[in-house]
Amino acid sequence: MRYCSLASGSSGNCHYVEAGGACVLVDIGISLKAAEANLYSVGLDPSKVQAVFVTHEHSDHVKGIGAFVRKYQIPVFATEGTWQGMQKALGRIALPRCYTIRAGHGYRLANMRIQPFLTYHDANEPVGYQITAEGHKLIILTDTGMVSDEMRMLAQGADIVIAESNHDPEMLMNGPYPAALKHRIRSNLGHLSNVDCGFLLSDIFASNPYCQTLLAHLSEDNNTPEIAWRTVLGVLYDRLGPADYRVGVAPRNEPSAVLSPLRQTVPAPQTVPVPQVGEGGQP
Ligand SMILES: [Zn+2]
Ligand SMILES: [Zn+2]
Repeated sequence: MRYCSLASGSSGNCHYVEAGGACVLVDIGISLKAAEANLYSVGLDPSKVQAVFVTHEHSDHVKGIGAFVRKYQIPVFATEGTWQGMQKALGRIALPRCYTIRAGHGYRLANMRIQPFLTYHDANEPVGYQITAEGHKLIILTDTGMVSDEMRMLAQGADIVIAESNHDPEMLMNGPYPAALKHRIRSNLGHLSNVDCGFLLSDIFASNPYCQTLLAHLSEDNNTPEIAWRTVLGVLYDRLGPADYRVGVAPRNEPSAVLSPLRQTVPAPQTVPVPQVGEGGQP
């Protein structure tokens, strides 16, 4: 399993995941040109990408999808609500390459299993993703105002976690945003604060000390990489004690390091049958 954040934040988000003989992008909220440049700069080949999975229709997540999938002729997977919200922004995509997915269902691409789960955000039908392959687990969880028990359960034992650490509440409240926007960001349908992120990660590190995490979707105005990192580490130290926690910050406009799971592969027994990719309905 290999993961790379190609861009992260309100100016654009894009995740690269390769595992189990499959290779996907989650969201393309940057231009086709930027996505290609960032992939090449870390030695990844855009033509190897086989599908795009979408979290929700906000432009920082979908901006480049149309151009990318038209060039590389690959399918797009999104919930019905997300399709409704993003169809205009994507432009023309041939129907056979449009698939509708549902939270709680698993989808398979080669030996990669992708399971969307509902997030809490002011979008039509937003999701995060749990991706498993080769006995490893990766979680992508951004753009959510709160962390549910389901999210905590899905993230247990994860090897790689990309978690939203959007804002420092004090910076947000003292910052220049209008009151309504401050309220929206802090609400249960907004974004996770640095402390929220620290609590989520402490639960995950408690179940897998070898977990690697990237703090993602940092606000440009109401956070800094240093404040996010220090706050999250502070929560981890308070709750779990000092240790060498692997916590990085996803850069805004450049690719992160390419991460691979640190612990040995533990082959997971495959007990739950999942639908094959190709069985999804049209949006
Ligand atoms: Zn976003
Ligand atoms: Zn959003």
